[in-house]
Amino acid sequence: MVRYVGRFAPSPTGPLHAGSLVAALASWLDARAHGGRWLVRIEDVDTPRCLAGAAETILGQLAGFGLVPDATPVWQSHRGALYQQALETLITNGRAYACACSRKDIEAALAAQGAIRMRYGELVYPGTCRQGLAGRQPRAWRLLTDAQPLLWNDDRLGAQQQDVQADVGDFVLRRADGLWAYQLAVVVDDGDQRITHVVRGADLADNTARQILLQRAMGLPTPQYLHTPLVLGPNGEKLSKQNGAAPVSASNPLPLLNDAAMALGLPVQRGSLADARSAWILAWRDFYNRPGD
Ligand code: GLU
Repeated sequence: MVRYVGRFAPSPTGPLHAGSLVAALASWLDARAHGGRWLVRIEDVDTPRCLAGAAETILGQLAGFGLVPDATPVWQSHRGALYQQALETLITNGRAYACACSRKDIEAALAAQGAIRMRYGELVYPGTCRQGLAGRQPRAWRLLTDAQPLLWNDDRLGAQQQDVQADVGDFVLRRADGLWAYQLAVVVDDGDQRITHVVRGADLADNTARQILLQRAMGLPTPQYLHTPLVLGPNGEKLSKQNGAAPVSASNPLPLLNDAAMALGLPVQRGSLADARSAWILAWRDFYNRPGD
């Protein structure tokens, strides 16, 4: 049997807020409920979006809530050599190709096809550079996707399906600014850290099909996925660092953990923190009971 390894993978773009606490608590509970290991990975590849000191703040907040990883956290900014090696293997195997297109080029190619197709603010890549660069300078690297629906199962959301080529297109692995794309870094790291279960916020569910394609292209196993409910702010929008969600303070952890537990459908606990954690682990087992796990 493969031993359970889970992870919480925050981007240090700001401190932990009520929404990210839900994902952190859920991934910790799932690991504990399975008798597994729980890792923390600091996803600081998108350096322009990272905030100095935010990673340390997040780790301090997690510790204050009693969410302590079972190994020293890893930082994606230290792992460029692994990502480079993965990209080179994909290129050698004909699974990744160089792309010379600017945003304008992509818009023009889509317009020529009859429609500017977008998904969550991103243009669908029409595959222009699949045939080569025609003398243009390479900018980014993309994964060569295949045209068929990818089916996957989410342990909370159920059966999911996405045709990555049609809905997203060949997606970026290394960006034109030289930074590693989230998709490549997360798949390399989940593989390298032998993650068996990914528990994260539902806003990330849309990335899963892309990540599974990439795992297959790299010969990596696919973890089980569970996407947790999102916490909405008073305006009905998902809480996020970008819309100024307030940091959670661990000075009095139980009330905030109770809010996070309620968002996960778990009962409110009134005893000590230790009792609350034990009760939630049991409740999680019942509530998110996954046959065959
Ligand atoms: N770093 C991502 C975020 O904070 C999460 C990635 C993941 O859990 O796969 O949104």
